[in-house]
Amino acid sequence: MSKKLTGIGASEGVAIAKAYVLNEEPIDSLINDKKISDADAEIKKVSDAMAKAKKDLESLQIIAKEKLGEEKAAVFEAHVQILEDPAMSDEWNALIRDEKTNAPAAIRTVAKKYADMFEAMDDAYFKERAADVKDVTERLIRYTLGLHVIDLATISEEVVIVADDLSPSQTAQLNKNFVKGFACDMGGRTSHAAIMARSLEIPAVLGLKEVVKNTKNDDIIALDGQTGHVEINPADKAEWEKRAENFKKEQEELKLYINKPTVTEDGFKGFVLEGNIGSPKDVDAVLENGGEAIGLFRSEFLYMDNDHFPTEEEQFTSYKAVVEKMKGKITIIRTLDIGGDKKLSYFEFPHELNPFLGYRAIRFTLDRKDIFRDQIRALLRASAFGPLGIMFPMIATIDEFKAAKDFTLECKAELEKEGVAVGKDLQIGMMVEIPAAAVNADNFAKYADFFSVGTNDLIQYSMAADRMSENVTYLYQPYNPSILRLLKSTIDGAHKHKRWAGMCGEMAGDVKAIPLLMGLGLDAFSMSATSIPRARSIMAKLTLKETQDLVAKALECDNTEEVLVLVDKLLEKTL
Ligand code: PEP
Ligand code: MG
Repeated sequence: MSKKLTGIGASEGVAIAKAYVLNEEPIDSLINDKKISDADAEIKKVSDAMAKAKKDLESLQIIAKEKLGEEKAAVFEAHVQILEDPAMSDEWNALIRDEKTNAPAAIRTVAKKYADMFEAMDDAYFKERAADVKDVTERLIRYTLGLHVIDLATISEEVVIVADDLSPSQTAQLNKNFVKGFACDMGGRTSHAAIMARSLEIPAVLGLKEVVKNTKNDDIIALDGQTGHVEINPADKAEWEKRAENFKKEQEELKLYINKPTVTEDGFKGFVLEGNIGSPKDVDAVLENGGEAIGLFRSEFLYMDNDHFPTEEEQFTSYKAVVEKMKGKITIIRTLDIGGDKKLSYFEFPHELNPFLGYRAIRFTLDRKDIFRDQIRALLRASAFGPLGIMFPMIATIDEFKAAKDFTLECKAELEKEGVAVGKDLQIGMMVEIPAAAVNADNFAKYADFFSVGTNDLIQYSMAADRMSENVTYLYQPYNPSILRLLKSTIDGAHKHKRWAGMCGEMAGDVKAIPLLMGLGLDAFSMSATSIPRARSIMAKLTLKETQDLVAKALECDNTEEVLVLVDKLLEKTL
């Protein structure tokens, strides 16, 4: 039976493939104490499950070796040994044969015995083996129960992932050769899963609310990451295939803009189109799509994809790689923006009722100068290899900005004393993503070299509407005159002190926002790499004057809808 759902188009593109449903139900409730009659069949079930588990562990080992190095990959080798340990398998086979225990229950009983035994040991090494036993046997139990085991990195057939939500690190594991798209119940355009999807160029629809409930493994899922439409077991597959074909054609047309200069219809050349990245490997996509700079390197991914706070040296290597690849074009690197929905496996943040309004980003790094120092030193050292901007996230007060800037200058003096080179044209700027900074921008501009507006957060904090919550997406209104006024205050504030104002929130690459941002005088537009050609094509088809006239009217509108009517009318000319 076909079923249609509509969510939020989070990463454009059309995907049609088999569903891979990520539902990690806790297995305990699925294991029962039913006796079995055919012990041979049950033991065969276990040996089939073991073969699958072994295959997984071996591929995980290869992937881990590539991504994380030999040492971390060795864990999976140890897991294979646990899996093949004859002592454990003899015991569960005996339970199956002699007591007619079903396979999942037998494995659980034996696993628990061994895990408890390790747990009780004094030696830390053996204590840790308890977790390994649980990990390996849970995989085995899942297979004997006929469930999927979730190792996103090992997916090796074309699928659309269907999940409640995907964490940024899960998203980072996806291999786009096989993962054709994903559909999630939670999230919106600016959740981090969406941002990652765009940088990986995987079509995604989020905020679907009930896609997991309605999908079974191996159903066919078709999705359109632009319109937010999803169809489970599509009634007219050919229609979807045509849509995919059209999307491809449109992409081909936009390619013509990749190597053109950024210029408006009336010849204004003051806008710069930049790319957002999460790791050095994303730079290629920015350059391939005609990006003129890196407007946002979200350095937190270096921290999240790790099992320790990255050292100064590890960070320096990444930052330098980006700066060098950009060959003289500026790279803006944001300092650690952690907290909120961005967590670290190796660091526990204090529990707070509202982590999005809590101890995060600059609030955290100013408090933990030991962690901050490593990053700032790495950034300053990388600045010797090309133009670099350091940008502080979540600045609310001038004092915070000054404290972060002073600390950076102290680190710079320290490096110079050590005889370490630091770039001459380093810029120190800030994100404007808290309304307190936006309304007071002209005062901030006395101290900051540049602004970059983080609309993802600025909108949520202005409207008091969580960017992750699908229940209040109606309040998440980039084109609301209130937001436009905050943007005006920010951009005018920067210009008053001859600073430049950029934007690295998702709004910068939004087709409907671009005419408004042009008219407001935004200098730099930083977006997902794949949005750059389209942004350039829109700019080429509009005059500066008509976007300024649009803004004059939009600022006086009562609501988003009125603004959108004006925008849509102007955009007709670009079609
Ligand atoms: C923003 O808030 O707009 C932004 C770019 O930062 P992030 O999405 O990483 O919070
Ligand atoms: Mg932000």
